[in-house]
Amino acid sequence: MSLDKLLLGKPVADKKYLLLEDKIKFLKTKGVIPKLAVILIGNNSASKIYVKSKEKKFKTLNCYSEIFQLNENISKEEVSSLIKKLNNDSSVHGILLQLPLPAHLDAYDFLSKINPMKDVDGFHPENLGLLFQGNPRFVPCTPLGCIEILKYYKIDVESKHVVVIGRSNIVGKPMMSLLSQSGNATVTICHSYTKDLAKYTMSADIIICAVGKPRLINRDMIKSGSIIIDVGINRINDDSKKGYHIVGDVDCDSVIDKTHSITPVPGGVGPMTISMLVNNTVLAAELSIK
Ligand code: NAP
Repeated sequence: MSLDKLLLGKPVADKKYLLLEDKIKFLKTKGVIPKLAVILIGNNSASKIYVKSKEKKFKTLNCYSEIFQLNENISKEEVSSLIKKLNNDSSVHGILLQLPLPAHLDAYDFLSKINPMKDVDGFHPENLGLLFQGNPRFVPCTPLGCIEILKYYKIDVESKHVVVIGRSNIVGKPMMSLLSQSGNATVTICHSYTKDLAKYTMSADIIICAVGKPRLINRDMIKSGSIIIDVGINRINDDSKKGYHIVGDVDCDSVIDKTHSITPVPGGVGPMTISMLVNNTVLAAELSIK
């Protein structure tokens, strides 16, 4: 595999952490230590791993994070009451509701109850509205991380045709907004009802794929020299000690010779998501003293 074609996330995240460390030090001089409250409901093992790695990163950066682990069968009222308590706690700057939730709970209902000034995931309707107005406050972490990768590797999206595959509120829709507004790209958004996906991907200068289907994109579906940001995370069972390995939505081995560059999975977009969460929590702490 041509390693020079890989758009690694770690150097981008590390550069961001250096900037954030300065901001954290400055906040400390004002008596403020950024604090994230994470609400984790139930026993989803992947969510537990994500939450632990977030906690570890906050600790490394001398910031606070507190995990509120709630029982799988918790009532809607109890979750709402915790959100209210955290909204009113001035030592908490960011509140993150770890998704997915157990089936009896409605994520959108809770997300809209989080104080929008503490909504570091950027999923509150007010923050999504500001983003779509072109006046963003908190931008969802994964699409923001993709933009940081493009900037770091000096990939200009202006006037380029970018095909975003996936239209979730978490990745696809905010991605479309960022690219078309501040990025001045021409964006096509594809989803499960798109007929002949290859027709669109073949004309893309840049493909951003956030679906959750391994090998959705292969070399016959891209044009030569295109750039690929692979957001997908898919677990493939195998005979290894761990019992699985992670792949993206793009068949990296098949496209690597044809593409200009591509984010690997793991090691591409993944490291960016936590760095953007720290970024947003530091921003929330800054806004709290303005
Ligand atoms: P999601 O809410 O399930 O959305 C998936 C999107 O893919 C939907 O819009 C769906 O279309 C579309 N889709 C499904 N099958 C398709 C097909 N055959 N062709 C074209 N589009 C198709 O997922 P998500 O939360 O956005 O996450 C997407 C992927 O990114 C997952 O693998 C997730 O694990 C990963 N992810 C990674 C990070 C990271 O840090 N790297 C962060 C977040 C998510 P419809 O709308 O029509 O159903």
